[in-house]
Formats: sequence, C-alpha cells, structure tokens
Amino acid sequence: MIAIQDFKSLTVTAIRDGLLSGRFTAVELADLALSLAESEGKEINCYITLCHDKARSQAADVDKKVESGAEPGILAGVPIAIKDNISYTGYLTSCASHILDGYVPPYDATVVTRLIDAGAVIIGKTNMDEFAMGSSNENSYYGPVKNPCNITCAPGGTSGGSAAAVAAGLVPVALGSDTGGSVRQPAAFCGTLGHKPTYGAVSRYGLVAFGSSLDQIGPLAHSADDLAALYQVIAAYDSHDSTSVETDQSNLRAGLFESAPMKIGVPKECFSQGVDDEIISAIKTLQEELTEAGHTFVDVSLPLLDAGVACYYIVATAEASSNLARYDGVRYGLRKTEGGDLISMYQQTRGEGFGPEVKRRILLGTYVLSAGYYDAYYLKGMKVREAIRQDLERVFNKVDLILTPTTPTPAFCLGDKIDDPLAMYLEDIFTVFANLAGIPGVSVPIGAVKSGLPIGAQFLAKHFDDRLLMNISAQIERMRS
Ligand code: GLN
Repeated sequence: MIAIQDFKSLTVTAIRDGLLSGRFTAVELADLALSLAESEGKEINCYITLCHDKARSQAADVDKKVESGAEPGILAGVPIAIKDNISYTGYLTSCASHILDGYVPPYDATVVTRLIDAGAVIIGKTNMDEFAMGSSNENSYYGPVKNPCNITCAPGGTSGGSAAAVAAGLVPVALGSDTGGSVRQPAAFCGTLGHKPTYGAVSRYGLVAFGSSLDQIGPLAHSADDLAALYQVIAAYDSHDSTSVETDQSNLRAGLFESAPMKIGVPKECFSQGVDDEIISAIKTLQEELTEAGHTFVDVSLPLLDAGVACYYIVATAEASSNLARYDGVRYGLRKTEGGDLISMYQQTRGEGFGPEVKRRILLGTYVLSAGYYDAYYLKGMKVREAIRQDLERVFNKVDLILTPTTPTPAFCLGDKIDDPLAMYLEDIFTVFANLAGIPGVSVPIGAVKSGLPIGAQFLAKHFDDRLLMNISAQIERMRS
C-alpha cells in the first residue's frame, strides 16, 4: 500500500514502474484516488461525478495484464480526471449546466476510448464553467471550484476542476478543453502545466461543442513528461471528426530533453499596462535563464493583440448560439412542460436550464449573426481572425516560439469579477490568439507572486509544433528543479 503523500507525487513513469515491480496495484491507486476525491475533492468542489464502478474495473483489467505479463499500456494504472463536457458512457455529462440534468451519453468520446485503451483509470468528471464559458469556474450550476493554492481564489476556468484536481494531487493528470484559454489559464492559476494542442490534432468527437472552430481537448499535468505521455495517447487521426489530422507523436517522450537552441519571440504589446509587475519580472527572469541555456530572444510585434478578445467573443458566441440550439427540452436532459404548447416548453426549458452567462452568449451570438448586423460584426470578426492568423505567420517566419504571460494577473478572488463580464473576458487576452489561429500553446508554471499564488508563462508554436512546447517545458522544469 502506498502513502497518500507518495501517491501525490507519482508520475506516469513512476506508476508504471510501481505496478511492474509489485509496489502497488492499479486497484489500490484507483481506490486512493477515489477516496481523495471524496475527501479533499469535496472541499475544493473539483468533481461533479465520481466513476467508482468503471474506475475499479479498468484498474482490475490493468492489474490482470500486469500479472499475466501483457503490455498494460502507456498510461497503465494512471488515475485521470476528465472534464464534464467529455462524453463517457454511463455517467452524467452535465457541462456543469442545469439543462443537462440527467443526461447520460450513450457513447464514449474518442479521447476516452484512447485513454482506456492506454490503461488509464478514469476517476471522475470534473467541475467547470457552464458549457465551458467563463474564466473563474463560478459559472457552474454545481458551484465554484476553489483554488487549492488559496481556497478564497478562483482556480481559473473553464477547466478549473481538472486543474484543481491535478494541483491538489488528487490525480496526476487530467483532461480539459480549451476554446479560448480554458486549459492554459486554470493551469497558470493553479500552478500546473496545461497544453492546448494544434487544432485538429486531438479528436473532438464526444466533446460537447462550444465554439467548434476553436475547441480542442488538452492535457494538464505536473511534469512535461506526463503532459507528453497524455498528449501522445490522445493525439490521433479520427474519422469521426472531420477536422481531425494525422500527426507524428513518435519519439515525443524519448526526445523530450533533446532540442536545438530555439529562437523565441517576445511581443512587446504583452508587457503594457494592466499586466501585473510581478508577472512581468518573472517572465524577464525566465528569459535570462533560457538565454543562459542557449536560446535567443527577439522582440516581435503582435499589433492586433488588443483586438483578439473582441474578435474571439464574436466568433465564439456566434458558434455557441448555433451549437446550443440543440438543448430544447426534446433531446437532452431537462424538460419543463408546465401547462403549455411546444414553444412554451422550449422557452421554459431554456429559460430555467441555462445560467446567465450562457444566456448572455446566446444573445450576443445570435445578434452578431443576425441579418442586419452580420456584416458589421461576424464578417468583420472573421476578417480580424484572418489578420491575426497572418500576423502570427509573419512572426513565426522569424521565430520558433512566442513567449507571453499566460494571464495578465495571478488568480483573483472568487466573487471579484463575476459581476463584470468585460473584466472577466479580458482574462483571455493572451490565450485567445492560439485558438483563433489554431496553433498550439502551453502554460508552464514559473514560480509564484509574493502572496504565494502561481504564475504561468505561455509559449505558442506553429501548427503541429506541439513537440517544441513539450521540449521547452521540459527544459524549464529541469532548469528549475
Ligand atoms: N474564458 C473563455 C470564454 O469564456 C475561454 C473559454 C474556454 O476556453 N472554454 O469563452
């Protein structure tokens, strides 16, 4: 049996070694992760549903394989938490919304199938902002998640449950989804790594759609190797997702620490007013360390940085208003039918089922797509999106990576921004570019501000250069360990 403190520092490789040497079994790890979820997990409210039965049977399967000498898989026995917008047969998939009350998907998301095939053990479905809309996890029907680094603070959003579960050591790794920063921002707020893969690298089949041209599932972990292991498992071509692309993941982990010196661009616009001084100086220190390690930095410019958030909130809300039209009381979850016809059922179900932020987005999205305003908003938004893509292409002609802070501030207090949607939206200023352009990004923990809250640095790379993001994360980890 393994002690809780030891469990909390287990890596993917340590779990494999422990299973193969007989130090512990996968069932023991699963039981420990489930009991931690019920104790510490409850305190920070990071899970919506725990998957006791399947977790135990998946773990037992891994133990059988280990006993018989069969290959148990890359993620053998690794307890993992997945965000509650990822379909998992037999368990509530609520997207933290009242409107999906009681909705149990009849199929597994492709990432779920791939995790199980690789030997992972799914412990539970994590709390999130409703339909992945928000930056603080306060938009959840199930109540906010608390940041394990300081429980009065937001864990970030929208994959706050996944980030908090990893940060608190309840699971070594987790999956989130990132439409505008929802893996990277909570990773930064909670002090873990978080990766938004290149658009198309990871199948979206079974991920509940928010902004389909922006959404990507991504891993959260404590180490670059764990992040790479998880990415290697989930990244694969999938015929169920028409935007899926084949990528080469071979040698990703073996070559993790081998990388040539890189040229890294630092956009001057990212260090202007509104960015916390301690974050700016932490990024400067990181630059010095990486320069000493042989990398070079150049000043670059992203003149459209300020337009990114506006553009994102046009594209994302437009797509959301269309994607969320399917929740009508007929097909999924909640149905409210008090004394009325079909139209009144739609109205009651949607009126009661959606929370205020989701309603705001549906209204905004419907507005920007409406006949009289399409040209002024949606079309213009699409043009800005293309201009942002071209700006990034221009910069990536000169550099391998771009470095920015992940967020302008460290974690803010729960309650601080919930009544100010614009302040909340501005949280996404550094993260939305990656989604708009489809490029990959990673948030790497680089220490903490004086109050003890973590700071994240974000690296962006060209399409399909996710490997470089893993390399730089690994180097930072080694430099700082
Ligand atoms: N904060 C962003 C939003 O509210 C990002 C969401 C996400 O990545 N799912 O839209």
